[in-house]
Amino acid sequence: MAEVPEQQQVRYEQPSAKVARIVLDRPGKRNAQGTVMTYQLDAAMRRACEDDEVSVIILAASGDHFCAGHDLSMTEPPSAPPEDRVTLWGQYDGPGWEGMYTREREVYLEITERWRNAPKPVIAAVQGSVISGGLMLMWMADLIVAADDARFRDNTGSDMGVPGVEFFAHPFELGVRRAKQMLFTGGWLSAQAAAAAGMVNEVVPRAELEARTLALAEEVAQTDRFTLKLVKASVNAAQDAMGRTAAMQTAFANHQIGHLQNMVRYGFPIDITRLPESVRRHLEEALAAGKAGPR
Ligand code: ZN
Repeated sequence: MAEVPEQQQVRYEQPSAKVARIVLDRPGKRNAQGTVMTYQLDAAMRRACEDDEVSVIILAASGDHFCAGHDLSMTEPPSAPPEDRVTLWGQYDGPGWEGMYTREREVYLEITERWRNAPKPVIAAVQGSVISGGLMLMWMADLIVAADDARFRDNTGSDMGVPGVEFFAHPFELGVRRAKQMLFTGGWLSAQAAAAAGMVNEVVPRAELEARTLALAEEVAQTDRFTLKLVKASVNAAQDAMGRTAAMQTAFANHQIGHLQNMVRYGFPIDITRLPESVRRHLEEALAAGKAGPR
């Protein structure tokens, strides 16, 4: 039976004069990202960007882990109300892959891109495990401060038959060889290795994560707000000129081929044969109940 989803999964705080802090607040589910969290996060981002007093945004997470990835429980609505959506794709109930494609495009690709392009600087504070979809949430940030217990993996390829997450930034975040190793093996990357690869700015003791991130945000916020926006836009434009946007579109298309291959082979958008028995049984029951959606 479907559970009633927790209604408040994102907190909004203003820890100092020019800094907003958005906190993923679903620690009991290791901050798994479902539809409710996605649109609450979007609303929080909109609020921070529209607030004249805010120059810098912190993205943090409560509990031991930043984010376990996309919510596979299928206990939440598959789409947001039309007024909350950020694209015009529509037809969530379309036949074949149409509805699934709409959801993939809206909820995972374009909404993450929208946050990546938010004009104000975003600093992510990450701790514990950051898995697959959790990487997307972290990578949309401009700066990343990692606790020394943070670790990162994308197991979509190794465990689910899908070639990486929808917001495919791995080569740009890690360099091509580390990106390939991460995706080929599904193995963990430590906070220290992530720093060496340039994926995170700093590694700090877990107990100092919140204070250090706030201090960094306050330091950034001393620079003029509009100048910060222009700097961010220029660096993002440089990365896009290097081919990020086009490469990501190709990877998204490959991601859809992965889903469709699994549909052909298993009748489900991911390869359920490689998943733990309990997860597999849950997904098969959901499939039988006719509410299976893509991850
Ligand atoms: Zn997908």
